[in-house]
Amino acid sequence: MTDSSTTPDIAARLREIDDVTLDDTVTFADLTTLHLGGKPRLTVRCGTDSAVAEVVMLLDALAVPLLIVGGGSNLVVADGDLDLVAVVVENTEVTVSGHGLVRADAGAVWDDVVLASVEAGLGGIECLSGIPGSAGATPVQNVGAYGAEISDVLVQVLLLERDTGEMAWVPAADLDLAYRYSNLKFTGRGIVLAIELQLHPGGQSAPLRYGELARRLGATEGGERRPVADVREAVLDLRRGKGMVVDADDHDTWSAGSFFTNPIVPTTLADAVQAEVRARRGDEDADRMPRFAAGGGAEGQVKLSAAWLIDRAGYDKGYPGDGAPVRLSTKHTLALTNRGQAVTNDLVALAREVRDGVRDAFGVTLVPEPVWIGVAID
Ligand SMILES: Cc1cc2nc3c(=O)[nH]c(=O)nc-3n(C[C@H](O)[C@H](O)[C@H](O)COP(=O)(O)OP(=O)(O)OC[C@H]3O[C@@H](n4cnc5c(N)ncnc54)[C@H](O)[C@@H]3O)c2cc1C
Repeated sequence: MTDSSTTPDIAARLREIDDVTLDDTVTFADLTTLHLGGKPRLTVRCGTDSAVAEVVMLLDALAVPLLIVGGGSNLVVADGDLDLVAVVVENTEVTVSGHGLVRADAGAVWDDVVLASVEAGLGGIECLSGIPGSAGATPVQNVGAYGAEISDVLVQVLLLERDTGEMAWVPAADLDLAYRYSNLKFTGRGIVLAIELQLHPGGQSAPLRYGELARRLGATEGGERRPVADVREAVLDLRRGKGMVVDADDHDTWSAGSFFTNPIVPTTLADAVQAEVRARRGDEDADRMPRFAAGGGAEGQVKLSAAWLIDRAGYDKGYPGDGAPVRLSTKHTLALTNRGQAVTNDLVALAREVRDGVRDAFGVTLVPEPVWIGVAID
């Protein structure tokens, strides 16, 4: 049953909680890296884990819909007025031990955690340099880049379970971490209040598994290591070239990063896609089609590259061109970007067009990676 409390009543109750500040002027355009989205009933900024927990438990008890927000870098939010309270997680402490144990509050900026770890000579998350957003969101979709995932090093998370109100350290194994997925994503199961990582002392990176990065560092793909600081710099450099490091002055970075996940499809469908590419574009292109092991023991399945499929379906970087409010990034076909004047409906229209175009060309339905609030692609 929905509580009939008015926003002023709720605000009064929330104001009684320590380390909480309220704002009724903020929009999701202010809170997201896409700079898109309408206005929540209220924005509640929480400076400690107990503030987050108290706010969430109060709103849940009042049956007031809420959205947890970190850095807003994986959110597509509807235009207009939204019947929900935005709860922004802003606890920020990070501790790095010499033995490689790193604890970060959920609201810490993720890249600050990476930098602190690299400066302490710890290896394991250097390939995740430059991913925007908060530490607490990294397990939510098991963030990954350049051959590494947070699941490689995540030991446990301090979790507020919403149905019981219990706050406890939960082992990473209980989160069903998989490619861009955990049982926290889309489920509202709980709120991450802190994370704990086990990194490797000694100044060397994790084995390099991503060809482009390994080549940049003069290593083979087979798992050589390099000094963590060198790997961080190389990753940041590669990411900047693709518009994947947030820069307020560069509209190519007003995005949610990769907009679609790489599709995992049956081998037979991958073969059919390759045959279609061969027919349309010739042997040389078809023979170079990226096909990766699906991972997770998925038999008879392969992972394809969403960016490659979008490009081969005819959507070039920068599509649909100058003057459009939302365009593919001019640096990377997989990012949908707000050129400054867009609304969410513009983004949804382009997302649909690209998804449908790839499906018509190759029979593969791309699935968006970000979390959608109040709006859907279908
Ligand atoms: C330029 C750019 C590059 C990117 N590159 C990558 C990349 O290389 N790899 C990758 O994996 N992702 C990438 N992303 C996506 C995004 O940065 C990550 O998913 C990031 O972890 C989101 O963090 P956030 O704090 O911004 O989460 P938000 O966008 O604020 O939230 C995302 C979801 O997580 C939930 N959430 C947030 N915090 C918590 C919490 N403490 N507890 C429970 N739920 C929570 C929210 O409710 C929402 O459902 C990129 C995004 C951009 C804009």
